[in-house]
Amino acid sequence: MASKTKPPLKVLIAASEAAPLAKEGGLGDVVGSLAPALAELGCQAAVALPAYREITDNAPVRRVAADLPVRLGDAQLPVNVLEAELASGVPAYLVQYDPFFGRFGKYGDRFGAYGDNDERYILFSKAVFPLIHATGFAPDVILANDWQTGLIAPLLHNGALPGCACVFVIHNLGYLGLVPGHHVHMLGLPDRYYTFEGLEFWGSMSLLKAGIAYADALVTVSPTYAREIQTPEMGAGLDGLLRHRSDRLHGILNGIDPSQWNPETDPHLAANYSIKDRSGKKDCKRDLLARAGLSETLMGRPVMGMVTRLVSQKGIDIFLVAAQEMLNMGMGLVVLGSGDPNYEQALTDLALANPGIVSAIIAFDPAMSRKVFAGSDLLCVPSLYEPCGLTQMYAMAYGTLPVVRATGGLADTVADPKDGNFPGTGFSFGPYWAGDLAWAASRARDAYYTPAVWEAMTTEAMKTARNFSRDHSARQYLDLLERVAAEKKGPSAA
Ligand code: ADP
Repeated sequence: MASKTKPPLKVLIAASEAAPLAKEGGLGDVVGSLAPALAELGCQAAVALPAYREITDNAPVRRVAADLPVRLGDAQLPVNVLEAELASGVPAYLVQYDPFFGRFGKYGDRFGAYGDNDERYILFSKAVFPLIHATGFAPDVILANDWQTGLIAPLLHNGALPGCACVFVIHNLGYLGLVPGHHVHMLGLPDRYYTFEGLEFWGSMSLLKAGIAYADALVTVSPTYAREIQTPEMGAGLDGLLRHRSDRLHGILNGIDPSQWNPETDPHLAANYSIKDRSGKKDCKRDLLARAGLSETLMGRPVMGMVTRLVSQKGIDIFLVAAQEMLNMGMGLVVLGSGDPNYEQALTDLALANPGIVSAIIAFDPAMSRKVFAGSDLLCVPSLYEPCGLTQMYAMAYGTLPVVRATGGLADTVADPKDGNFPGTGFSFGPYWAGDLAWAASRARDAYYTPAVWEAMTTEAMKTARNFSRDHSARQYLDLLERVAAEKKGPSAA
């Protein structure tokens, strides 16, 4: 906690998403809840985001500065700075350059990722510095997130804002943010940064590596993932650098915001319920079955939900194979997801082949996601790798037991009775095989039909979810941010 005698720590969180203004995955949730949590702990917190069209069309914004020149290679681009409110007392400063950010999608459209994403986020990262001058919000620390803001670390290292420290958060090591050779001049760093020790990655530059190599401290979003990314198998080619910087790497488990994710108050549910009185959960299941076009008969059988981006990381391949086994076990399946068109088609085909028993809702629909978390009995998260994962935590908060692959944050948050955890909060499996997923699902099915076990496990899951609080996570961030800021300012500031 910031002491009364010291001025409050000023933290600027630079990210490509922050809920509720702009969210595509867990990054948006985490930034959107960390910023207000830091503010509640006494920090002065603000967020820097691109001014996506979805924000400027929907949220009240005011213009703070116009036509600030930002150099991108040979061009000088005119950037505006807008201000919106992320949460009470937490401003969101928006970098507006419509040719880059005034599009309908954040990272891409139905044809795939935008081809100029490297240019878009190089511009965004560079624009953070004129934004700081224009708004007068001079941070002690910039908390940068994932490849989209990785360039901020070497820019600070190169003297862009003397005295300001950089903490870089790795939410997903799988996205390297590669900059091809013919775009390197856009980065605007001296040549010494374009080396093996710096940004260079197999002949290209990696913006993710930029953050890892030059930040004052590194965070990743669960203790297990912090260990995993230092291994060649899961290090995406950056494990050597991560081992080299391991004394600076911290695993801080993401938290969830209980004011946003609570079955007692969630306005999107057909009925609210609590750990003490769970009768409303049945109404939520009935409502989910009706909305998903599933048979009423599933009221007496286990329903497995899934809420996910449809990308290979999320284990869709093994889910599609194991689904047949789960259907043989008498389960119903509801998948809410969008992403890779091949997965969308495969899930749609599975639903068409099993009417009333399998539902594939191909959409990004936050309200529906809450109905799936509440109305399902089980939630499947069979990820190939999972830095932290939020959906298993939401499921537990809603009394729905997760069935997960024990990797990254899933291993840190789900306790399986098979490992001696009683009563346990879910079911896990190790090897990335459909058969292992089906085996975990069969143990979940057995628990469903054993009322005393089911009652004990769902109660334990709901209780445990309270420990995944964003405040606990924010306190660990604050500790680290204060240490790094003090280190940067040197002994005279102590
Ligand atoms: P990731 O960030 O890798 O996508 P996380 O589990 O950390 O995975 O976070 C995913 C977030 O996105 C959760 O809040 C989840 O509910 C949400 N989400 C994912 N897919 C959908 C969807 N199709 N509709 C609504 N929300 C979704």
